[in-house]
Amino acid sequence: MHGLTDDDLEIRRRARAFVDTLIPYEVEVELAGGVLPEALVKEHHEEAIRRGLYATNMPKSVGGPGLSALQQVLVQEQVGRVTNGLAWCLHTPPQWWAEVATEEQLRRWLRPAVAGERHECYAITEEFAGSDVSDLATTARRVGDGTEDDHYVVNGTKWHVTSFNVADYCFVQAVLTEGPHAGEHVLLVVDLPTPGIDVVRTPAYSHHIADEHPIVSFTDVRVPASQLVGAEGEGMTFAQDWFRFERVMVAARCVGASARLVEETTAFAGSRIVGGQPLGDYQLVTAMLADSATELFAARAALYEVARTIDAGEDRKVLHARASMVKLLCSETAGRIADRAVQIFGGRGYMRENVAERMYRELRVERIWEGASELQRLIVGQQLLKRGPAAVLGDD
Ligand SMILES: Cc1cc2nc3c(=O)[nH]c(=O)nc-3n(C[C@H](O)[C@H](O)[C@H](O)COP(=O)(O)OP(=O)(O)OC[C@H]3O[C@@H](n4cnc5c(N)ncnc54)[C@H](O)[C@@H]3O)c2cc1C
Repeated sequence: MHGLTDDDLEIRRRARAFVDTLIPYEVEVELAGGVLPEALVKEHHEEAIRRGLYATNMPKSVGGPGLSALQQVLVQEQVGRVTNGLAWCLHTPPQWWAEVATEEQLRRWLRPAVAGERHECYAITEEFAGSDVSDLATTARRVGDGTEDDHYVVNGTKWHVTSFNVADYCFVQAVLTEGPHAGEHVLLVVDLPTPGIDVVRTPAYSHHIADEHPIVSFTDVRVPASQLVGAEGEGMTFAQDWFRFERVMVAARCVGASARLVEETTAFAGSRIVGGQPLGDYQLVTAMLADSATELFAARAALYEVARTIDAGEDRKVLHARASMVKLLCSETAGRIADRAVQIFGGRGYMRENVAERMYRELRVERIWEGASELQRLIVGQQLLKRGPAAVLGDD
């Protein structure tokens, strides 16, 4: 199916089998505001590691399984099938770091992250810098350059810092105030807690998951220069690398969510009796199922094709456009499928105990984070004009 090898099918089956054990907890965690008993969270985390499903994006050089992009997509697709972030225990640490991490960074953060012992969060977005992160106001001032006391002093406030409450280290992106790269960005890695890093407030969001997204302030935070990721001025490069990866994985999770909804609505339409006959016998309902299945099929085919072009080593710029195309396509598709699913379930679809209701809320953010749909359209459009349709569409 879909030209998958035996290895591909094995990893997909393994991920699906694990995710199927998480689905029974969905309603409990939804009604508990996203929180499961600590012992159960630990059990899920350990089981993800035991089954070889943790850090599936990491290369062998840092202790990861070295999966292909397509295999990573197959795992993330399964992650998307379960609500309330329950499958976030199949965590993917920052794979772009493997190429530039110093020995100290490998030892203190990256290898422990791959082993599931440490967990990161990202503090990039600000009140006035979301879609356009080049507008950051958080500053990093270098002090004692070249001396033993070489460090940065970070000041600013970050928004939506996902997983801050469960993370033990944080990437913070800031603008350099002085030196040859003044005005450019740095990415720094900082342990949590560190003096000067404080939660301003923790807003409530549409979904109910254990990972919070607080607003976090950095006040005169001292970060040793050895905690600079890559070089000064490279902050945006990592963001771009992360986006390319994460947009494809967002697409994968959206495809997984869509598949679950198509399965659930098809089963419901086959068994629910309305006016003396199964719901599925009403052609207006059948049409909704058909539209969802057709759109899912197309989105998944595009997703796998993009993953295969990543594995084939396609040019980064072209991949940037393709990652945007597939994120746009799959997130918008999932939104439509979730909307139809609620409709098919009727009043049940408006109950929080129903998967369609939860997906309907949870999938909304997929069209916003990692670049809103409008931004993805801009990227695709700009690449079309710059490189031509043949390059972007792979018609060469
Ligand atoms: C639940 C959640 C978790 C998040 N986690 C993190 C995290 O861990 N770390 C982090 O750093 N950030 C995180 N974010 C931030 C997220 O990446 C931003 O919300 C997103 O990039 C959009 O930025 P914004 O919210 O400031 O929207 P804005 O930039 O204010 O844009 C608002 C809307 O305007 C439109 N728009 C914006 N620019 C353009 C344009 N050029 N052309 C046309 N239309 C445009 C889009 O429709 C967009 O949705 C998270 C956000 C959410 C909601």
